[in-house]
Amino acid sequence: MSFFSEFNRLAFGALVQRSLTASTQAARASMDKTSLSLEDFAHLISPAGAELLEPLSRRSQRMTQQRFGKVIRLFAPLYLSNECINSCQYCGFSRDNLILRVTLTPEEVRHEARALLKQGFRNILLVSGEHPKFVSTDYMARCVALLHEEAPSISLEVGPMEADQYRPIVRAGADGLVVYQETYDRAIYADMHTAGPKRNFEWRMETPERAYAAGFRRIGIGALYGLGDWRLEAISLAAHAAYLLRNCWKAQLTISLPRLRPCAGQFQPLTHLSDRELVQLVCAFRLMFPDVGLVLSTRESPKLRNGLVPLGITLMSAGSHTEPGGYTGAGKDKLHHTERGRIVELDASEWATADKRPAGATSQFQIADERPPHEVADVIRQLGYEPVWKDWDAALTA
Ligand code: SF4
Repeated sequence: MSFFSEFNRLAFGALVQRSLTASTQAARASMDKTSLSLEDFAHLISPAGAELLEPLSRRSQRMTQQRFGKVIRLFAPLYLSNECINSCQYCGFSRDNLILRVTLTPEEVRHEARALLKQGFRNILLVSGEHPKFVSTDYMARCVALLHEEAPSISLEVGPMEADQYRPIVRAGADGLVVYQETYDRAIYADMHTAGPKRNFEWRMETPERAYAAGFRRIGIGALYGLGDWRLEAISLAAHAAYLLRNCWKAQLTISLPRLRPCAGQFQPLTHLSDRELVQLVCAFRLMFPDVGLVLSTRESPKLRNGLVPLGITLMSAGSHTEPGGYTGAGKDKLHHTERGRIVELDASEWATADKRPAGATSQFQIADERPPHEVADVIRQLGYEPVWKDWDAALTA
């Protein structure tokens, strides 16, 4: 049975209600368990659980140190393309936005990757909008093969594919796939995704299973906070993670906790997850899934990221750019608009800067932590943790 079938049978509304009405006693009892159910998870993220944030944080910290040591793994996103055929209301790359677009050539991607390798990164996440005309399976496999010669760990965050389409990319050297459901609330999902293949909720939900079948050995999932009710998203995500741990057990699983950031299109979040609730969520996920990696990106402020280092996070991005060419300026001479899949040249007024070139491609969203990677690594050390740039090598599984 796929997760989609399980998802359809679970009573998420009742679990949210249980969370909203849980007593402090129930939250404390769930916190003290060694093996947690979805009901326990609902108690931990409850308003009553918020009152136990201190002991919850201490337990999460202890558990994380026992399972992962005092280590934070660092990675960087590398954007291949900001072309997209989907219309996602909350994303700067949405096809409805008149933005500066570009797709890097594999050589340009290697140039970008080398800039990241120079900064110390060995763990690179290739990110792209979904547009088969510009970002084909062959293109992705070529990029991965080229980078795999120099970067030991390559993951992808790209449009969902069939398992057979993933296989050549895995053979080329990619080991991880990241796909967020965005929102597990079906009605909001339909409102947010108004055109393009991403409208298919079920197809997206089953992507981690297809990725596992194709041979990816790291799988990342997440929900985007700011769309649906955050407790519903978190409980659904916990159910999804529990399913994957049972059924895709050879893979390492990670959970990301992204909150919406400003982007082209000026989308305003529909719901709010506060900093304190985010901390509660990190701790609850840690207690529920002691061995799962928890990811925090540069969407969050330096202060909050520093504070979360000891509390349960195991993976962080640093120094990120969310546009293609962001690390080296690659692709700047090819910027254009795209209308109905056709490239439209920029007019003279858009070549705005002193060298008569636009500043660069449009980013997917604004980041909140602009510190360079070495500065993030220094802070991690000052907090008593070790920043790790590489912890995986394909040779380990050969
Ligand atoms: S969220 Fe992904 S699929 Fe949607 S518009 Fe942005 S890049 Fe495209």
